[in-house]
Amino acid sequence: MKVLYQNAKVFTGKNTEFADGIDFAVDEETGKFVSPDNTEKTVDLSGKYVMPGMINAHTHIVADPYNKIAILGDKNVTAAKSTFLALGNLKKLLSDGVTYIRDAGSVFDVDIELADLETSGDIQAPGIIGSGNPLTMTGGHFSNGSYEVDGVDEVRKYARLALKKGVQNIKMMATGGVSFSGESPWDVQMTEEELRAGVEEAHHKGRTACAHAQGTEGIQNAVRAGVDSVEHAIYLDEETIQMFLDSGTYIVPTLTAPWAINENAEDLPPFMVEKSLAVSKAHIESIGKAAKAGVKLAMGTDSGTSYNNFDKNSSIEVAMMVDAGATPLQALQAATINGADLLNVADKAGSIEPDKLADFIVLSENPLVNISALQNKKDVYKKGQLFVQ
Ligand SMILES: [Zn+2]
Repeated sequence: MKVLYQNAKVFTGKNTEFADGIDFAVDEETGKFVSPDNTEKTVDLSGKYVMPGMINAHTHIVADPYNKIAILGDKNVTAAKSTFLALGNLKKLLSDGVTYIRDAGSVFDVDIELADLETSGDIQAPGIIGSGNPLTMTGGHFSNGSYEVDGVDEVRKYARLALKKGVQNIKMMATGGVSFSGESPWDVQMTEEELRAGVEEAHHKGRTACAHAQGTEGIQNAVRAGVDSVEHAIYLDEETIQMFLDSGTYIVPTLTAPWAINENAEDLPPFMVEKSLAVSKAHIESIGKAAKAGVKLAMGTDSGTSYNNFDKNSSIEVAMMVDAGATPLQALQAATINGADLLNVADKAGSIEPDKLADFIVLSENPLVNISALQNKKDVYKKGQLFVQ
C-alpha cells in the first residue's frame, strides 16, 4: 500500500531546517519513498518533526557493553553468543532511531552475515555495512579479535581475505587506545605504508577503509594513507585539521565512548578509567575545533565498548557533538547524509526522497532548536514499517 504522510515539518537531510509543505509517501511493499501521488492511505503528522533515520558509522554489535554475556575478544566467546548479542543490539539501535550502521569490528563475521539477512528482509534491523575482523599489527589494538598483520604484503593478504568474505569496509588500527591495557592512545601502530595497502585493496573493490587513530602522529599517518574516515581523532592540532580539510577525510568522533567509561568509573579497571579521563578534555576540544573548521563529520558511538550502550547513545552522541562545538545542523547532517556518504550508501539512505529506503524518525520537538529532543520518545520507521519493540 502507498501511504501519504502529511503536514509534518520535515528535514529531508538535504534542506537545512524542518520545513513545512514537504509531504512524502511510502510504498510499504518496496519499503521505499515514492512520489506522493496515487496514494491509498493518509497519515496526518500535524505538529510532528520528521527526519531521516540516523546512521551510526561506528558500532560493535557483537559486544556486550556490560560484559555479562560475553567479553569481546575473549577466547571463550562463541559465535552463538556473539550472534545473540548482535541481534539484540540491532533492535536497540533501531529503538534509538538508527536505521543504518557501519560495524567497525566484529568476530565470526557476524556483521557480514547479518547484513545479508537484513538486505533480504529476513530480519528487521538497521542496514549493516560490515567490516568483519579488523586488521591490527601483532599485539596491536584489539589483537585478540583482529587479523594480526605485519608488513604491506600481510596487510594485502588479509584485506583481500576480508573482502572475499564480503566486508564492505576495511577497519585498521593506526594507534593504541583506551580500552586495552599495555598501550596508549599515542602509540603508533600500523605504519602509513601498511594503512595505504589496506586502503588500496578496499578502494580497488569500490569499498571503504577506516582507521582507529587517537594520537596525532597516527592520525596523520591514516589521513596520508587515504582512509575514508578516522575514528576517534582525539588529539588534533591545527596542521592535522588542515590535512582533513585538504583531503576531505571524515572524522567519526565517538564522544560517547570515553564519556560512558567516565560515568561508570567505579565499575571499571583503573587502567581504562585513567586513560579515559586523560583523553576526554582533549577529545572534546579537538572535535569542536574540527567542527568549527568545517571538517566533515559522521556520527558514530563505538557502542559495545564499556557501558557504551546501543539503546540511547546514538542520540546522545549527536547532542555531545553540539556540546563540543558543532552546530545542530552539522550534527544532524553527520547523523544522516554525511553518514550515508561515508558508508557509500547515499544512493539508498540518509535522506528523504523518492527511491531511497523509507527510513525515518517522527519526533514531537524540533532537534535543531533542542538537540536533546532526539533522546525523547520517537516513532522509528525502517523500510516503511513502524518499529515496534
Ligand atoms: Zn571501535
